[in-house]
Amino acid sequence: MFVVLLVMCVAGACNSEQLNMQTNSSAEGKTADNTTISSSSNDPRENRGNQRKEEGAGDWTVPKKLTALDPKKKHVALSFDDGPHHLVTPRVLDILAKYNAHATFFVLGNRAGDYPELIRRMIQEGHEVGNHSWSHPRFSDLSQQEIKTQIGKTDQEIAKTVNYDVSLVRPPYGEINDRVQSAVDGPIVNWSVDTCDWKSRNPQSILEEVQRQVEDGAIILMHDIYPSTADGLDKVLNWLGEQGYQVVTVGDLLEFSTEANSSKAGEVFFSSKKAAS
Ligand code: ZN
Repeated sequence: MFVVLLVMCVAGACNSEQLNMQTNSSAEGKTADNTTISSSSNDPRENRGNQRKEEGAGDWTVPKKLTALDPKKKHVALSFDDGPHHLVTPRVLDILAKYNAHATFFVLGNRAGDYPELIRRMIQEGHEVGNHSWSHPRFSDLSQQEIKTQIGKTDQEIAKTVNYDVSLVRPPYGEINDRVQSAVDGPIVNWSVDTCDWKSRNPQSILEEVQRQVEDGAIILMHDIYPSTADGLDKVLNWLGEQGYQVVTVGDLLEFSTEANSSKAGEVFFSSKKAAS
């Protein structure tokens, strides 16, 4: 089956230009990533906020929260859309681990089912899994029920893999309207820093976009489907560390923000601050 994914930057220097992207899923070997995750039952770390109590998804257990947010630091949330990808996502996870950085992966339901090991590895290593729809349609073309189906199917697919409640949604293309907002149960998360990685495919350019746009409380958009994004991530994380940023999940960033603590279903965030209504 040939799957065409459309990826777009909505804000920032990308000029809302739409784009491309490929992926021939039949050409992607599902066994190419040899990540294995074992159950973790005696982890002394504190409880993760969205840990599920009930059983399901085999005997795999969501680990406890890995890293506390340091209130004395500046914070930035990293987010990766459109994966998992059998080659790029493991590289991204390796680099995040090197810097003790954490990220939110807004996955597609029709890819998540192909790579359960990667979904588990994300959770196991303290990252967050968000919902980026089942097949990346334009939500503005869909009815409210169709939007709910796109989101619900993806949640169910993730639940088959790991006992984990997905609390954050990012619509494809960051597209938001009244139907989208009423169809979503939790906060909607877009971004404030668009690295345009899908467009430039250039590691240096990705770094420069982060340097140009980042500020305390920012949410950075990248895609874990391009090798060039993984190529640029090391320098981005190194630079953010030098600038005194702690790199955290979107959920942790919003949880830390007093403003976001009162968030309601369908409310939109571009950073740790509420979007102007
Ligand atoms: Zn996307």
